[in-house]
Amino acid sequence: MADETTSRAAGHARRLVVLAGPTAVGKGTVAARVRAEHPEIWISVSATTRAPRPGEVDGVHYHFVSAEEFDRLVDDGQMLEWAVVHGSNRYGTPRGPVEEHLAAGVPALLEIDLQGARQVREAMPEALFVFLKPPSWDELVSRLVGRGTEDEAERERRLATARVELAAEDEFDVTIVNADVGHACDELVALIENPPDSVRASSTTSL
Ligand code: 5GP
Repeated sequence: MADETTSRAAGHARRLVVLAGPTAVGKGTVAARVRAEHPEIWISVSATTRAPRPGEVDGVHYHFVSAEEFDRLVDDGQMLEWAVVHGSNRYGTPRGPVEEHLAAGVPALLEIDLQGARQVREAMPEALFVFLKPPSWDELVSRLVGRGTEDEAERERRLATARVELAAEDEFDVTIVNADVGHACDELVALIENPPDSVRASSTTSL
């Protein structure tokens, strides 16, 4: 009986899934695929102090806020986690919407950086932590260059971060290799819908 209660409670908490991984591995693309194909899964909209890129919509891709507004959200305890990413802008997960969706039994996905994932693990250790990794280092470099959204100095900064981030795989419950965005999306959705019982016991890959 106690076991049943425990596993039900854990199952509920595991409806929160945290997707992290090195820069340019394709976390955003995989999350966008989930958003497009699985409206039953809610994806958190982060707040950020960075400026919108062309095509990005406030409230859809991010909540674009000023540094002062970000400070206020942090000071008011409204951030579940937040971090300075790539040494410049701040990004964070508003706490309220996450708690509301979990309370309503809606599976929730956070696509955040490694520092943020570590903070969520402190706050909500029952969540499922999924590491997305590239098929190879060369592939990661070519994705970052091919994306063309950063200048060379920024690219170098992000690659340095990515090297450190790749080493964090062991901290996660499950690894998905992002060799193909459709497969990675399917694997992620399967984990969200059917979270494994034991942490750090399972590992799935696309290869
Ligand atoms: P970009 O500027 O390319 O949209 O995102 C840069 C990085 O910020 C990505 O690695 C992304 O995962 C991370 N990020 C986006 N939202 C959040 C968030 O709410 N919290 C944290 N810690 N990182 C985030």
